[in-house]
Amino acid sequence: LFDALADQAALAIERVKLAEDIEKSRLSEQAESLRAALLTSISHDLRTPLSVILGAASSLKSLDSTLDASSRETFVGTIMEEGERLNRFIANLLDMTRLESGAIAPKLEATDLSDVVGSALRRAGRIFQDHKLVVALEPNLPLVKLDPVLFEQVLFNLLDNAGKYAPAGTEIAVAASRVGGQIVLTVEDHGNGIPPGDLERIFDKFYRVEARDRQNAGTGLGLPISRGFVEAMGGTITAQNREGGTGARFTITLPLEVA
Ligand code: ADP
Repeated sequence: LFDALADQAALAIERVKLAEDIEKSRLSEQAESLRAALLTSISHDLRTPLSVILGAASSLKSLDSTLDASSRETFVGTIMEEGERLNRFIANLLDMTRLESGAIAPKLEATDLSDVVGSALRRAGRIFQDHKLVVALEPNLPLVKLDPVLFEQVLFNLLDNAGKYAPAGTEIAVAASRVGGQIVLTVEDHGNGIPPGDLERIFDKFYRVEARDRQNAGTGLGLPISRGFVEAMGGTITAQNREGGTGARFTITLPLEVA
């Protein structure tokens, strides 16, 4: 009887090992295909603007003597716009790399939230030519412990997304209030919102809500970078859909500056 039991136990152990081996090779296959997909996506995001730039530059060169001023302006405008996009993408990739290697060290200081919100809004100004902006910061908010440079980047990313994903003419609302020992800040829009199954995944690198947003000028890095920055400052950032209507809401919590 003892031998039979020992045999059975040995068999069971073999099975577990086999299952583990299969799981390991499945995971490394997954990692490999993820890496390949990331590379494809990065090279696509780099090459698309580059080929537009090269196309416009070569048209400028070959058509130079026949072009009127306004067509020339259009070509130059395209080159600058696509150059900006490349620049943004590379800056995002660098931020992501710095985050992942732990090289982001936030310089936390007691900050007046309305100053940072103000500067993010000024930077995102062009968005609000097309949208209605509503800002509601609770009066006399206490100081918040944050890195103003990183936090402005986070707010800019959220405002930029609201501008991209919500139709012109709709309202974008920024609100902040004190809740217990925290500051809660929200950015809300009246776009299509986010499918419930994607509310967490949009914080993954390069994840974008299906075909819907692939054509958009974004990089798929804004939200993961924002989350990395906010968490480095001791806060949280999550996505929801607005209750009672369409649109997305992003909620940030931050610790209050303690005296
Ligand atoms: P990007 O905007 O460059 O694609 P992000 O990381 O900022 O990258 O966002 C990831 C994805 O999350 C977007 O591609 C879009 O699908 C979705 N998303 C982000 N913000 C919004 C929003 N305000 N409304 C609807 N979808 C959004």
